[in-house]
Amino acid sequence: EGRRLATLANAPTRTRDGIDVRLLGNAESVADVALARSRGADGVGLYRTEFLFLRHKGLPSEDEQFIAYRDLVLGMGGLPVTIRTLDLGADKADAAGLALRGEDNPALGVRGVRLSLRYPAVFTTQIRAILRAACYGPLRVLVPMVTQPDELIAVRTLFKLARADLKRENVDLPEKLPLGAMIEVPAAALNVRALLDHADFLAIGTNDLAQYVLAADRGNDALENIYNPLQPALLRLIAYVIASGRRAGKPVSLCGEIGGDTRFTALLLALGLAEFSMHPGQLLHVRDRIAALDHAALRHRAPSLLRAHTHEDVETLLTHLDPGFA
Ligand code: PEP
Ligand code: MG
Repeated sequence: EGRRLATLANAPTRTRDGIDVRLLGNAESVADVALARSRGADGVGLYRTEFLFLRHKGLPSEDEQFIAYRDLVLGMGGLPVTIRTLDLGADKADAAGLALRGEDNPALGVRGVRLSLRYPAVFTTQIRAILRAACYGPLRVLVPMVTQPDELIAVRTLFKLARADLKRENVDLPEKLPLGAMIEVPAAALNVRALLDHADFLAIGTNDLAQYVLAADRGNDALENIYNPLQPALLRLIAYVIASGRRAGKPVSLCGEIGGDTRFTALLLALGLAEFSMHPGQLLHVRDRIAALDHAALRHRAPSLLRAHTHEDVETLLTHLDPGFA
């Protein structure tokens, strides 16, 4: 079985009926990047930069960040990489003490882009490091925890200012740098068309989107019957975001845990997903699963999946639809 899977490392990702799917790796370390590449990922769909900050005593300097981002880009050998700007707050508190303390509801507090925009100098250091690294290969920037368009507009402004400064310093700059929004707040999903006016691409973060849609802590085991990826309300939002991105002609990936879980591969193809980002250890399993699935037949079942009333109903439908769902 392991040997059969290993032969898939250099194979294209294609459904049984010949539809190509993009598989990207989630990465937080050099080892993840190497694994993503060796498993034939089409790129990195989510590089979680907070891990640089969590491991560090103080704040990582511009040069330290630049080296990490440049090595990421070089490590993927010309394949596109997606760097997510700092996503601290909520469950992720940093050693440098940027994340606010004493919030009553940290998950609903100053986290992700909200925190970055609160500290423009810290954010600009990261932005400068990203811009410098972008000369070494194709790079995109992903903004976490976006709620409304003004956040993307503010991030774009900071990139523009940093660009002007770097240009004055005679630093090489990339011609363009796509900016994307993570969709993990219900308001962002419901109003995604407004975000698409300002975003070049989208990445659905289902770990947080599920938490906020269901008002259920993603880490609370007592809520397992509620925090379920098959919840109809969540599936309808995911389908709407994918369809809206497609209509706007902008790529949509999904980088939550379900993207790398083969039990949900058929479901996500049915909802129209064409780009999956996952822990690199899952790449071969998902590629294998996709090869066994019929895209046209799955797409045909999307309406019935989206009409389901309970996660149990979705589960029953999937059991009939997908022999691999167990
Ligand atoms: C998510 O929320 O789905 C996501 C990919 O981001 P993280 O797990 O880092 O919050
Ligand atoms: Mg998240």
